[in-house]
Amino acid sequence: MNPSDHPFKFVTVLTSHNSAALQWNIHPDLDVSAPLTFTVQMSQGTSEWENVGSVVNNYIIMLSVIPYWGKVITKHFRVRLVDGDGATYYSNPIVLTQLWTRRDFLIAKEIARRYGKMLDKYTGEPGLLLKRKAWGVRCSACQDTTWSQPNTSFCPNCYGTGFEGGYFSPVFYPIMADPNQKSWDRQEGTNDPRAGRSGLALNVPVAEAKDLWIDTATGKRFEILSLQPVDTHRGAVLTVTVSMATLPPSDPAYEVEINGTT
Ligand SMILES: [Zn+2]
Repeated sequence: MNPSDHPFKFVTVLTSHNSAALQWNIHPDLDVSAPLTFTVQMSQGTSEWENVGSVVNNYIIMLSVIPYWGKVITKHFRVRLVDGDGATYYSNPIVLTQLWTRRDFLIAKEIARRYGKMLDKYTGEPGLLLKRKAWGVRCSACQDTTWSQPNTSFCPNCYGTGFEGGYFSPVFYPIMADPNQKSWDRQEGTNDPRAGRSGLALNVPVAEAKDLWIDTATGKRFEILSLQPVDTHRGAVLTVTVSMATLPPSDPAYEVEINGTT
């Protein structure tokens, strides 16, 4: 398959208590050059596409489109990618009202708002999600080997991902301690190689195993092991339980820079 036929693997719309987001993946085999400029376009079903936001070298964009959702209007979204050589790719359009009604959005928004309030004001631990790159511009330091199999997991340029920089810019991602877990760090100090934490988070952005989470209070870094859906509505996962392993201070993950929080 020519990846340019299907440049986007995945595009989804996510809602939070005060925002909406679009998140995407492009095909890992798509050979692109920096910078990658993603523009979200919206249409009311006509052939006219209107730009509603743009980000560079990122996988998610926060949108201020909630007011539109108070009305039942069909919205089409698509994502355009233009790379550093001017190559242009479009995602398939996604049609919102075919997926969710206004009522669905209100239910989802309320669930998200409730958790968001708890996370922000009460028991949430402030943190940052560093999403591991699984697509994008291939690592220049690993060019002499097969790009998909970088020569060392300690490549300082891509951290073993095979893609420039290794991780995307950090995104605010608080996690609420699991109330069934007596202590947030109860497994630390044991020989359990999976010592770490688990807690509840909003599913925005959608995290995956191997992404990193940084506790901004202590600077400790964690590798995400798994995510389990908690609240779902109409097949959309709104909240997740995140299980993480504590990374020792010697782990190369501590060298990943966290400038430029989104
Ligand atoms: Zn590399």
